[in-house]
Amino acid sequence: MYKIAPALIATLSLALGASCTAQDQEELPEPQLTEQWEPKVPVVTSPVNGIPSDAIVLFDGSDLEAWEYSNPEGEPWTIADGSFTVSKQKPKTSNGIRTKDSFGDVQLHLEFRSPAGVESDGQGRGNSGLFFGDGRYETQILDSYQNETYANGQLGSIYKQYPPLANPARKPGEWSTYDIVYIAPRFNDDGSLKSPARITTFINGVLTQLDAELFGPTTFRGLPEYSAHPVKLPISLQDHGDLVSFRNIWLRELDGEEINDRTVLPELKK
Ligand code: MG
Repeated sequence: MYKIAPALIATLSLALGASCTAQDQEELPEPQLTEQWEPKVPVVTSPVNGIPSDAIVLFDGSDLEAWEYSNPEGEPWTIADGSFTVSKQKPKTSNGIRTKDSFGDVQLHLEFRSPAGVESDGQGRGNSGLFFGDGRYETQILDSYQNETYANGQLGSIYKQYPPLANPARKPGEWSTYDIVYIAPRFNDDGSLKSPARITTFINGVLTQLDAELFGPTTFRGLPEYSAHPVKLPISLQDHGDLVSFRNIWLRELDGEEINDRTVLPELKK
């Protein structure tokens, strides 16, 4: 990057701005008029490879106390070496897990690992998914390392809606990070849609979705269509029958409406 000495900048300014008189300078507003000091920005400490100080931990490597099974009669997921793994069930019965608490707008971090042993392909390879809105809105988890499938169904897709912007899949058996910002949809009193769900994601530090506005809940067949629901609902992980593992799951609660309407200088809104 070029660095220009202040004296040179002053000389250049005089040469280029010859018509700018001292009187003009005096009429410019004071720079302090556009400084915003309140409200103070909240301090969040975030240690290297650690968890932000205001995060809610959903899995710290020890137990699944924050979660419950969608099918309590099903096979429980296994916990080992600081991670947990989807159960391999025979005969296969879906038994996803969901948080006991409900959440609305969030920043969520998780780490996942596709099974090292590749036994299938397409949608049958390392398939899981993170759902917001109690099973409504899926951000896809799939082993997409050299694994062809439809673009809006591969790793990082908003399933059957948005293909990811890139495919940062690592080799089967390697850990990956998944960072997601979810803004829940809002509904009017008559049940009509006020604002759609919005999702931004990074996988392994690579942008995969940017403020994608969802068309409705995830559907396997047919087109999505919204129906009104509470802002805060459980978050789920999908059991698709593949031995996907997870670790280090935490979230920070956000207020999407406040983010869009936070206090800024009134003059900026004119
Ligand atoms: Mg899935």
